[in-house]
Amino acid sequence: MKAGYRAWFQCFAGCDETYELDEVVYRCRRCDSLLEVRHDVDALARRSPQEWKALFAERRQAASGPFSSGVWDKWEWVCPRVEEANIVTLGEGGTPLVHAEGFGRRIGVPEVHVKLCGNAHTGSFKDLGMTVLVSMVKQMRAEGKDVPAVACASTGDTSAALAAYCARAGIPCVVFLPRGKITPAQLVQPVANGALTLALDADFDGCMRLVQEVTGRQNIYLANSMNSLRIEGQKTVSVEICQQLGWQVPDWVVIPGGNLGNVSALGLGFEMMHGLGLIDRLPRICCAQSTQANPLYMSYLKDFERFEPQAARRTLATAIQIGNPVSIYKAIRTLKSFGGVVEQASEQELADACALADLDGLFTCPQTGVALASLIKLARRGDIARDDRVVVISTAHGLKFPQFKTDYHWGGLSGIESRRANPPVELPADYDAVVGAIVERIGG
Ligand SMILES: *Cc1c(COP(=O)(O)O)cnc(C)c1O
Ligand SMILES: [Zn+2]
Repeated sequence: MKAGYRAWFQCFAGCDETYELDEVVYRCRRCDSLLEVRHDVDALARRSPQEWKALFAERRQAASGPFSSGVWDKWEWVCPRVEEANIVTLGEGGTPLVHAEGFGRRIGVPEVHVKLCGNAHTGSFKDLGMTVLVSMVKQMRAEGKDVPAVACASTGDTSAALAAYCARAGIPCVVFLPRGKITPAQLVQPVANGALTLALDADFDGCMRLVQEVTGRQNIYLANSMNSLRIEGQKTVSVEICQQLGWQVPDWVVIPGGNLGNVSALGLGFEMMHGLGLIDRLPRICCAQSTQANPLYMSYLKDFERFEPQAARRTLATAIQIGNPVSIYKAIRTLKSFGGVVEQASEQELADACALADLDGLFTCPQTGVALASLIKLARRGDIARDDRVVVISTAHGLKFPQFKTDYHWGGLSGIESRRANPPVELPADYDAVVGAIVERIGG
């Protein structure tokens, strides 16, 4: 517990309903809207912006303990309700912000920075939220609450993160996965971490419906991002970005969106820094979707006046293959307050963007490809200016999507032209053959 600080759940639709963070509640009991975590801002404002910056900088030096985490070094901003003994951490956060100079030059926007959120224990940004949610569950169990297990539906990364943090905490975990729609690398993570792994004949949206039904009737705690505790951890990405830019605010942040929790988390982080005076302006936000699963994009085209769920179609960006995003209205609110835009990318566009960024030394996942391709489109249209500083949120490590990478380079992605394929050159183990290949590629 961080004495002197307080946070609680509050109805997102604004009907003043509040709940304690240790209550098992995901939606407003009066109007069924999602909840959000609110903080005692007056208590937070007792420290000056300079004091917060100095405190965060000092904690970054920690070699062990909660402050060695890029989430818990902002404990007061995230979840003051959790006691130190119940913090479940795997050293999340503190990921690199890489200036992708070559990529930026090629697309005519030199200041492109990529936030590598996939350089994390389970390989995606989902760790940032799960450390908070699982810590809160551990806190509740320590206080005698009856929470026998935690469950989630997942497009692969949420389940990997939940399983890892639950294993650390010794809390039983159940994951609901769409069979055949996640990568083997993602599937093996909850399996290895001892979770009850349910592979169901359904798409993600089907798994989501089922897990809500099960957790609604059984005493199992729901870990999907409709549970706003996760959002509190994910919002620390915005703080890290500003820290890494020397407390400068980027002009644009581009982020891939599926269930749309992360785009609202990003917004909350910037709003909190702005409210407490650590930054003096807000960036614009672009949420990037696949053309195969683009319900937010379709709504954006109608000025967000209407939203219609859709059946998501197959996409290489499997982690955002979602047709009925649970956090749709949170995302819309965020985009409205950040001069937000929504862009979409086709399969060819995402594959091209990944290949181009990888030649700059990155190793991008297909979701990051959707964001990079959307950035390219915005730059071409002039919506993003040449001298704008852009941060792209890379949501997962490319190693979680090995089939996508190999299929691209071996030319096996159906319907996609592998313009930058670079398959290995197979040769006899022979001096002349090897030198011949080197001369052909590099000259000599
Ligand atoms: C979960 C996930 C997303 C989408 O995040 P949302 O909060 O669902 O919009 C994007 N990319 C990757 C790799 C993910 O795991
Ligand atoms: Zn309400």
